[in-house]
Amino acid sequence: MAKEIIIQIRDLIKSYSRKVAINGVNLDIYKSEIFGLLGPNGAGKSTLLSMMATVSKPTSGDIYIKDISLVKQAHLVKKLIGFVPQEIALYTKLSGIDNLKFWGQVYGLRGRVLQERIEYVLFVVALQDRIKDPVDHYSGGMKRRLNIAASLLHNPQILIMDEPTAGVDVESRRCILSAVKKLSEEGTTVIYTSHYLEEVDGICHRLAFLKEGRIETVGTMAELEGYFATSNKKTK
Ligand code: ADP
Ligand code: MG
Repeated sequence: MAKEIIIQIRDLIKSYSRKVAINGVNLDIYKSEIFGLLGPNGAGKSTLLSMMATVSKPTSGDIYIKDISLVKQAHLVKKLIGFVPQEIALYTKLSGIDNLKFWGQVYGLRGRVLQERIEYVLFVVALQDRIKDPVDHYSGGMKRRLNIAASLLHNPQILIMDEPTAGVDVESRRCILSAVKKLSEEGTTVIYTSHYLEEVDGICHRLAFLKEGRIETVGTMAELEGYFATSNKKTK
């Protein structure tokens, strides 16, 4: 069966005043796949993800989600996308549950539907126990998991995560990676960035290596084995 393409990135360029951060990226991403984006600091990973998440606009080129242009009609696809930015955005004085209620209401969820979604997303990130504690009592990994939970409240078809496992403890990392797997099995498309080849190795269906705003290579881990072996890539 042919794979269904859910995201098409075409001739994408993003320039800041002094820097071309994304320099002509073309990429297709399939429905339900886990796609890993690797690359050293400054490669353009966050810039690329923020455009996919409709947070920033391309200088030129476009991204199509289910054939809808993000440049022309971003408002039509926003609700299909969940975004976990590199910087954690939570209200640290509030409890975990109150943070989720707040974000749920931002997405227009109320009452029983909101309650059920909160229960489900807490289950996905395995964070039921400490949910009444204020967020500033959480470890970094727990904050990250809560952030992921918040991004899933509106049941997005595409989840975009910027370094979700950076700086988190081993248990949280395991938990996040198993949530990613589960979501993909349920049909969610997951795109995430990482510094670690070993991490994307076990879980991503395909991965791309980004360098200086360009995709150097893309494929399955098996397809890219030779590339990584010969080039001895440093991803940090
Ligand atoms: P990565 O996430 O792979 O570390 P980024 O996308 O954050 O890379 O950054 C890519 C390049 O663009 C870097 O050189 C960075 O300094 C630059 N850059 C990122 N954001 C901005 C910005 N808001 N203004 C100017 N330059 C930026
Ligand atoms: Mg980044």
